[in-house]
Amino acid sequence: MRIKRLIELIDTYKDFPKKGIEFKDVLGIIQEPQVFKELISEMSSSQIIKNAEAIVSIDARGFIFGSAISFYSSKPMIVARKPGKLPGEVIEEEYYLEYGKSSLSIQKESLDRFSSYAIVDDLLATGGTIDCVANILMKRGKKVTGVVTVVELMNLNGRVDFNFPVETMLSL
Ligand code: AMP
Repeated sequence: MRIKRLIELIDTYKDFPKKGIEFKDVLGIIQEPQVFKELISEMSSSQIIKNAEAIVSIDARGFIFGSAISFYSSKPMIVARKPGKLPGEVIEEEYYLEYGKSSLSIQKESLDRFSSYAIVDDLLATGGTIDCVANILMKRGKKVTGVVTVVELMNLNGRVDFNFPVETMLSL
């Protein structure tokens, strides 16, 4: 993976969406198909993905990377979504963000289909979002093989409380 090229494609926006937050915008990556391809190949080659029966990707930028990994690795994907987005019976869990409080939901029917999951998101910051998804999974007796993200913000120590492996393509 050409890390330097990846860094160039991630723009930083100060004070977005709230004052004090340095927002890392990963959307530049998908405007460069060759880099995006390399990134997805690298993420898909992780043992965390290989050891999982399915992928769970997180609303909304996680869907971009999760669905590409699902396609590349021929693994099924389910989604964890923000409130009010999913029809049918859902399993919901609250969590704290670097900038506020929210909740994530997974459709019960989709969750019941697989026994082990790799969590995919664009970025690991405080770890609250991934912890929330892991809680939904573990409370239903599912195995979490680990989490794969594009970016990890190292100063926030998000991974410290995780009891599963974390693989990140770029540590900032
Ligand atoms: P956290 O729960 O603090 O680990 O936050 C991770 C989630 O929030 C990911 O889904 C990111 O898309 C988003 N996020 C949090 N902080 C940032 C940031 N500084 N830059 C970009 N996205 C962020």
